[in-house]
Amino acid sequence: MSIKLIDLHFMGRAESVAVFIMETPEGPILFETGPHSCLPKLEEGLANLGYRASDIKHVFLTHIHLDHAGAAWYFAEQGATIYVHAKGEKHLVDPSKLIHSATKIYGGQMDLLWGQIKPIPASQLVIADHQESFTIYGQTIRALFSPGHAVHHIAWHTPYGVVCGDVAGIRMKGGPAFPPCPPPDINFEHWRESLDILIAESPEVLYISHFGIFDDAIKHLKDLKSEIDVWEEFTYGLFQQNSDPTKSVFAFGDWLEKRVSQLVTSEEVIEKYSVANPPWISILGIFRYYAKRG
Ligand SMILES: [Zn+2]
Repeated sequence: MSIKLIDLHFMGRAESVAVFIMETPEGPILFETGPHSCLPKLEEGLANLGYRASDIKHVFLTHIHLDHAGAAWYFAEQGATIYVHAKGEKHLVDPSKLIHSATKIYGGQMDLLWGQIKPIPASQLVIADHQESFTIYGQTIRALFSPGHAVHHIAWHTPYGVVCGDVAGIRMKGGPAFPPCPPPDINFEHWRESLDILIAESPEVLYISHFGIFDDAIKHLKDLKSEIDVWEEFTYGLFQQNSDPTKSVFAFGDWLEKRVSQLVTSEEVIEKYSVANPPWISILGIFRYYAKRG
């Protein structure tokens, strides 16, 4: 038994968006679904392991961002139970707000990027609270409420390590852990506290959506905490000069490119960082946090 990664080849790119599947003698358990636009790739990945979508009876979501949960409705239609934090539940039952806030960022690209978005009946959703455990097919899966990237974020502690969603950042092979900062929920203070919660769990393995399975868990989590400090110091300086994020996109983009190149040598990996965590999106999320914080 183990947890395996399925690469969804998001927008045709390898090693960009992953979902994870825990195989047990009684059946598979899916963590994240990815976007609906990647469903063919997900079904292909499931078929390679010997499953059909209708074999998935349990889906654990870390958060409801469309690159993580956009196809959850499809598995619900096949009869699956979907596990999510209370603050995410209402957006699955009625995705209109979610669509509205994603459209503000992605505009006319919505369909291409994410595919279809449909509501999920509340009767198929299970709300998970911090430290709540679910035993499925003999496997205990425990919720770690972990806001900072999203207000409704849960990392799932499994017998094989922690499925992190985005709270443990993004990390491309050979590169550092970076915080993805899309609006509207970014909160660095909460994020650091969430990382402390994960560190206290002493996991050995982290499953990271963007992208991979990493076995230097504690170092990774501590590195991300310091990276957030570095990002905050630089971006708060920009914010104090001018609180309009559109005025700082280039300064932040340049800084970020330098920051990645200090830590990574491969051009291919550097490019993966800018695709996985576009500076023009992160600056919106970060400045929104400073504006709310006052
Ligand atoms: Zn996210």
